[in-house]
Amino acid sequence: MAFSQASKRHYKKRRFLTKHCFRLQPVGGRLHQRDPKYDGQCPNCLRPQEDDDHLFCCPAPSRHSWRFDVKLLLDGHLSSSLDPLLLNLLQTMLLAFFGDGASPLPAQYPPEYHHLISTQQSIGYSQLVRGKFAMDWNELQATYWTKNHHHPSHKEKQWLVGLISLLFEQSHTLWLHRNEACHGRDRISQRQAERVHVQAEIRSLYSLRHLVQAEDQRHFYDSVETHLVQPVRQLKDWIQLYGPLIRYSVRQACTQAVRSTPKMTTYFPRITITPTTPTPQPCPTLHDYMLPLPQVHHTSSNPYHWSNKAKSTHTSTTPTKYSQQRIDMLWPDHPG
Ligand SMILES: [Zn+2]
Repeated sequence: MAFSQASKRHYKKRRFLTKHCFRLQPVGGRLHQRDPKYDGQCPNCLRPQEDDDHLFCCPAPSRHSWRFDVKLLLDGHLSSSLDPLLLNLLQTMLLAFFGDGASPLPAQYPPEYHHLISTQQSIGYSQLVRGKFAMDWNELQATYWTKNHHHPSHKEKQWLVGLISLLFEQSHTLWLHRNEACHGRDRISQRQAERVHVQAEIRSLYSLRHLVQAEDQRHFYDSVETHLVQPVRQLKDWIQLYGPLIRYSVRQACTQAVRSTPKMTTYFPRITITPTTPTPQPCPTLHDYMLPLPQVHHTSSNPYHWSNKAKSTHTSTTPTKYSQQRIDMLWPDHPG
């Protein structure tokens, strides 16, 4: 409720507020993800991969002064009507988000404030500057007025709307300061910043030089340094004319490279495996289960002495006297 009312007060800044509240600002890290021509650095402290929260937590002196101004504005705007404990909690949570202090400890506050602390911690302290407050803020403020027998006016009841509107206004001011540092404050610094951005885009296009098709190589100069000495206007015209063509040529080169490459299977002959019919095997007979026959050695007194020589030369499959005798020994009731 308070969020929508505060947003209506800044209707002309709705584009900024939409990106600000949903973390869609074109900060350095996000631009670098979209296009590598952006370095992604914070324009104030040169930190790599500038993100949404770094806007508020940047250690640059200009951001320190902005945070100090916000603290003074909150004190002047809320100290006369807001519950002192709620104002203290708000300041502590914002300092914790800015990296200038620790998170509030529930033990330092009365028990009725613990639910507010845990709820806002779940929502995120970074969401305070984006107008997302827990519902306990209004409830505890109403309880404070009741305890002090104070009948608030309509304007006092709108304290949270005014607070969110103030944070939106200060966030927009911070964004403008950040853009001035990025794109220049006066005309001279803006031209310098513009030249740096154009040169970065030219270098990004030259990094694709070895990926374009052969017939598009003629659009490039001999070296990028030779090209960059031209005026900014001519550089921007070259980007506008050849930038889309170079990117299209890279995509076409990739497509052609894949299209002219045969499949791996074309390099090898196709092998057809035909199934073979298994050869029927004869049924096993009784002799297949017989053990090797013993060979009688004439010089030995043992008639069952094994001789390897006799064993290797014995090829007859006809049962002999000894084999018949051995069957009788294995199966005494065999009919044979
Ligand atoms: Zn920074």
